[in-house]
Amino acid sequence: MIPERRLREDLIRFGRLCYERHMLVSMDGNLSALLPDGNILATKAGCHKGFLCDEDLVVIDRQGRRLRGAGAPTSEIHMHLACYEERPDVRAVVHAHPPISIAFTIAGVSMARCVLPEVVLTLGTIPTVDYATTGTHTLADAIRPHIRDHDAILMDRHGAVCLGKDLLSAFCNLETMEHTALITKTARDLGGIRELPPEEAVKLRSMGLKRYGGPPIAVARADEPAAGLPEACLGCSGCANPTPKGIAPRSAMRMARLTEGPLQTPGLERALADEVLRVLRG
Ligand SMILES: [Zn+2]
Repeated sequence: MIPERRLREDLIRFGRLCYERHMLVSMDGNLSALLPDGNILATKAGCHKGFLCDEDLVVIDRQGRRLRGAGAPTSEIHMHLACYEERPDVRAVVHAHPPISIAFTIAGVSMARCVLPEVVLTLGTIPTVDYATTGTHTLADAIRPHIRDHDAILMDRHGAVCLGKDLLSAFCNLETMEHTALITKTARDLGGIRELPPEEAVKLRSMGLKRYGGPPIAVARADEPAAGLPEACLGCSGCANPTPKGIAPRSAMRMARLTEGPLQTPGLERALADEVLRVLRG
């Protein structure tokens, strides 16, 4: 168990890192970690994550009531509470607004595809949750089913929720998500995406869950025919053909609308290109 003093230092450090790595701006986002007594240490509402200090952190109970510290808990605390409720293995949650990943949701391009081997090994796929108003129970409830078997999820037009056994692993999942978005976006600009062959994706996911662990529900599925990967990631061969080595069963996972061709809006293309350049130069 990490003592409160260390957790406070870590929250301040990872908040600054999120800002410096362009994962959020201004008063965006919020971070939290579980204290040894089971309560939650979280960033309060309306503070800049790049310049956090001890006074910006509040201690709340598992119902979201403030126990210690000045200021109100963030309005998005329901999202953090849902993460800790659904995943007893999780001890830290980072919510940020990574720009390229969010652009994918606005453009309707799914990130629940198997493209990069390292990402399939560590995160599997990255689902996108349908739009819901920020800070509401509706949004918290919408992410619940995805939290159970994913460590990184995207919320339509909003941002990322990344979970981990500590703040470092939750931050790593956020970095991996945004890095994946940048590579995928660049590849699309260069001509298109070649996805991993479905058999290779399944092999990698199974291997990754056994080697590195992950959400307990996903680990329990490591030996299933599709290793828990959704059919969108496995291409259409599995669902179109009932006997392609038994992979790609139907999945109940909801994902963002897929856009197969190049993006249709020149203005949006330009905005995305500018965003990539800004991140690269930053
Ligand atoms: Zn937010």
